[in-house]
Amino acid sequence: MRKEEFYEIVPKDEVGRIVKDIELPAFIYFTRIVKRKYDELLDCLPKGFEIHYAFKANPNQEVLGFIRSLGAGADVASLGELRLAMEIGIPKEKIEFTGPGKTIEELSLAIDLGISSINVESISEINIILDLCRAKGKPANLGIRLNPKAKSSPSAMKMSGDTQFGIIENDLEQALALIKNGSEVLNFTGLHMHLGSQFLEAEKLISNFKFILEKAYEIASQYKIELKKINLGGGWGIDIFGNKTPLDLPVIKRSLSELITDSKYRLRFENTRLIVEPGRFLVAECGLYAVNVLYRKNGYKKEFLVVNGGMHQNYLAAGGIGQVIRRNLQVGLVPENGCSERTSKYTIAGSLCIPDDVLASELELRSDIREGDILLFHNCGAYGYSASPLEFLSHLLPREVVI
Ligand code: PLP
Repeated sequence: MRKEEFYEIVPKDEVGRIVKDIELPAFIYFTRIVKRKYDELLDCLPKGFEIHYAFKANPNQEVLGFIRSLGAGADVASLGELRLAMEIGIPKEKIEFTGPGKTIEELSLAIDLGISSINVESISEINIILDLCRAKGKPANLGIRLNPKAKSSPSAMKMSGDTQFGIIENDLEQALALIKNGSEVLNFTGLHMHLGSQFLEAEKLISNFKFILEKAYEIASQYKIELKKINLGGGWGIDIFGNKTPLDLPVIKRSLSELITDSKYRLRFENTRLIVEPGRFLVAECGLYAVNVLYRKNGYKKEFLVVNGGMHQNYLAAGGIGQVIRRNLQVGLVPENGCSERTSKYTIAGSLCIPDDVLASELELRSDIREGDILLFHNCGAYGYSASPLEFLSHLLPREVVI
């Protein structure tokens, strides 16, 4: 989201009041934006589609509670996320657990809780679940995360092809046979595919959905199995840096509706739950990362603003997960106006002891910025706080405030 659009939803003077009242550095999340994004997503999806929020994008408990109140289920990927999902009251029928490295402790809890689907990612994982179920005398709902052969995702973060994720097609027959053999305790739920993240072109997202449905159709026909659910993964992108055209939601809505009413899929998947599990799309734009300028100082050529935060708190701003080249996030300023009309170009550095700790470079802001002024980094609601090396250098943790 462009920052101008953000300020149409959350007025600048409101933001100014809030940041002056809290101790910085802080992440500030605005639930009115989460609601707006949730409504946009819901409107895009054909009737009956379910939304499972990918906790990893932002596991702040208040944010999770808010998203649950909108009706979302959960995509969890660790013991901590599984516990969080239960704590905030997501019904077990709406929790799926996906991840390539699930431990025995994690699998054991997922079985005890009876969650909707443990999406297995290897043959060994199926064997472990089978042993656990037999030892406990309890059943498990188990789906397969498929790593399809043909589709290599053109997204910044490749999640299919020769990666560690999912079960490859060559092993599918063996996986299905194992599940069938263990059917006294294993309840096969269906397929999960997540082909990548941050898709910003509607055509690519739609082509992924088509691919997943077609693959599911082929598998259901070839192995004569019923798919109780197909999880189409996340990957809905957002305009992080304010320089791209956002996802064309009306096009996605139209194409998804056409796809799902195609008689081939409609008949085959009439009783199949269709699930999407986006993270970034729902929460990225709700978050600001606010820091104070501690020092304004000259380098030999550059001018620096050293702030009381850094890449340890906001790895996203410093290059983040899956980015090849670091780009400047959009930055707002409080107070917005100074005495001078002129602007200068600044390097925004954090307080770590490494030269990589740069949150923005050549950033044009008014030339009379003073120590104590506040910088606001936009679109920091996803993969910000929780995806940062917070312990590095043992600084105090940034606050998280939900409004
Ligand atoms: N589902 C799975 C299995 C993932 O690995 C991820 C992200 O890594 C997501 C969903 C959420 O992706 P995004 O935030 O791009 O929607």
